Amino acid sequence: MHVRADELELYVLDRLSKEQTSGIAEHLSCCPVCDHLLAETRQYLGELSRLSRSQSAHSAEKRKYARFPTDDLAEIKLIYPNVSEPLSIRVLDVSKEGLKVRLSHPLLTGITVEVRTLHALVFAEVRYCVEVGDFFEAGVQIQDVIPRKAVRGE
Ligand SMILES: [Zn+2]
Repeated sequence: MHVRADELELYVLDRLSKEQTSGIAEHLSCCPVCDHLLAETRQYLGELSRLSRSQSAHSAEKRKYARFPTDDLAEIKLIYPNVSEPLSIRVLDVSKEGLKVRLSHPLLTGITVEVRTLHALVFAEVRYCVEVGDFFEAGVQIQDVIPRKAVRGE
């Protein structure tokens, strides 16, 4: 009698008792049909676990795009087309593609700025800027991020 498919799966996953395992191993050693099925089962289970790994990697990727509210002090410096002295700002939220910042001066859309946070230098393009009460809130699209570590050469 051949080994059942569900038994083969459990055999590959090492979920069977010692007796069952040795019984199946014995049968496999002399039955090319079951040995072939075993190879297929291993491949199938391997693919299944790769798939579930890549799905969790995918959801981690999705989380990176989420916006994280922050209230970090940072500095912003205009770098193109005009260069300015650094201004103090607050970073209101952060996502993989952009930052929302609050500052006391308006920013022109389309200019390139450098945002210096505690952890990174962020080069970004100003996409919008609106007046909110006594402040301005600007959204910038990240073009490049350089970790401060690399800048300080640590
Ligand atoms: Zn067999």
